[in-house]
Amino acid sequence: MIYTCYEMVQDCRANKPEGWSYFISNYVPLIRKLLAHYGDSAALERVLVAIHKPESSIFQSLEPAPERWFIAELRQKVLAETPLPAPEFALDLETAAAAFEPLTLVEKQAVWIQTMHYDAAETGAMMRMAPKTVEKIRERSEELLRGKVDAWRRNLLAENGRHLGQAAATSGGKDCLPAKVFLDILDGRTTWRGRETMEQHVLRCWHCIDHFSRMVEVVELIRGVQPLSAGEAAHFRELLGIELAKPPLWKRLMGRR
Ligand SMILES: [Zn+2]
Repeated sequence: MIYTCYEMVQDCRANKPEGWSYFISNYVPLIRKLLAHYGDSAALERVLVAIHKPESSIFQSLEPAPERWFIAELRQKVLAETPLPAPEFALDLETAAAAFEPLTLVEKQAVWIQTMHYDAAETGAMMRMAPKTVEKIRERSEELLRGKVDAWRRNLLAENGRHLGQAAATSGGKDCLPAKVFLDILDGRTTWRGRETMEQHVLRCWHCIDHFSRMVEVVELIRGVQPLSAGEAAHFRELLGIELAKPPLWKRLMGRR
């Protein structure tokens, strides 16, 4: 029998040890990877304790959702638990949106992924695009941005990345697309062809561009991630006070044969 991510979400919401045990083994490696990328590796235990709290929002969804949607939400939760550095020069979403208006959807994504602190080579791998092309797009975006702000510096977009990401995440509306549309495109099940209305929406909506980009990030994030070793999993179960029930006696006796 396969235990799904959705069942885990239900079990964690009901505070069942099997849900938490599965979460620890399979998702701590992803949290670790996220914290290493966003520069706060020391926060792992603190983040886990916060996620384990009963009011933790990521287990509240009652709808069956794809695992990658859950991971994208987990990413938001992990980032929300790490300190938000104040940029030297603030850049708001409206200014960035106005500057990047002439760009195509793919160009906007290549630029947005820079706010998520991925360099041209990493972004190229994520978007299946030559790093040189990403660099060219980013150079153009810098020129566009420079024309719109008073105080400009090279790293302006990445420095404001977390703030821009938060602004985009909270800016959605009723026409915004569900994760499934983005995942279907990333998996090659569909393209924008025949979905021009949707494409036009995404082109103008930074909430959707952020959502789409976070899905691209998830696809890359889960590549090659292995579950925790039994010893490590036991350490984190202890941290959260999760006690697994022993299998029934007959099972243990059977196992000995
Ligand atoms: Zn939208």
